[in-house]
Amino acid sequence: MTQKTAIVTGGGRGIGRAISLELAASGYHVTINYKSGRDAAEETLEMIRQNGGQGRTIAFDVTDAEAVQQAVREIAGEFDIDVLVNNAGITADGLFVMMPEKDWQSVIDTSLAGFYNVTKPVLKKMLRAKKGAIVSISSVSGIMGNRGQVNYSAAKAGVIGASKSLAAEVARMGVRVNAVAPGLIETEMTRDAPVDTIKQMIPMARIGKPEEVARVVRFLCSADASYVTGEVISVDGGMA
Ligand code: NDP
Repeated sequence: MTQKTAIVTGGGRGIGRAISLELAASGYHVTINYKSGRDAAEETLEMIRQNGGQGRTIAFDVTDAEAVQQAVREIAGEFDIDVLVNNAGITADGLFVMMPEKDWQSVIDTSLAGFYNVTKPVLKKMLRAKKGAIVSISSVSGIMGNRGQVNYSAAKAGVIGASKSLAAEVARMGVRVNAVAPGLIETEMTRDAPVDTIKQMIPMARIGKPEEVARVVRFLCSADASYVTGEVISVDGGMA
């Protein structure tokens, strides 16, 4: 297959959907991963096809190492993998002193076990091909910290550290590794966020759109970013 290929975890809705659409519009065959949002993922695939693009959907939970391995084997058996976007993420906000262990663990697991489980088998394939780009979605919370998000900030700061270290490990083998740190973006995740209060902390005084994140991800995946690795780009209206 000569068409470039991408995998987007949590690619069926929110920021992930925008990334899937953006990459497909740039000519990638996009594998859209979902955990339980099958309908949204199928809808995203339909949108891609209506725009003349190509892709497929695949279900796996990024925290389930075995399921991921099997899925990546399935995908990698068919195609080279040029791009991986680690986008899947969850929040479980609350003050640390009252945070149940499950809220700590599930948030860390989705971002960091997810990073490990998905990136490792994909990276092996990229290293064999001596090319590839990995972009992971961090957050302004991972840079600045945020009250009520000790778990999420730890997870997202971890994504930055992991990306920078991995970038240094594989730079000579043709694989670039970067992160994007969105601020407040309009998706289901932020449906209940106190937008008016948060807007006061944003120099651009508005919340962002998923497409504004997706365009930066597409840049980092592209040859235009051929000398960019180990970088974190904030897409936050000036917040951080
Ligand atoms: P949404 O809640 O809208 O979407 C989350 C996505 O992650 C869904 O596609 C969901 O899949 C997927 N997902 C969650 N857990 C898993 C899992 N265990 N395995 C596979 N997929 C999973 O969130 P956003 O689009 O807003 O967020 C996308 C990313 O951007 C996240 O990493 C988030 O932390 C980050 N981010 C978001 C910001 C915002 O303001 N919205 C700001 C900064 C960072 P499914 O549909 O199957 O449930």
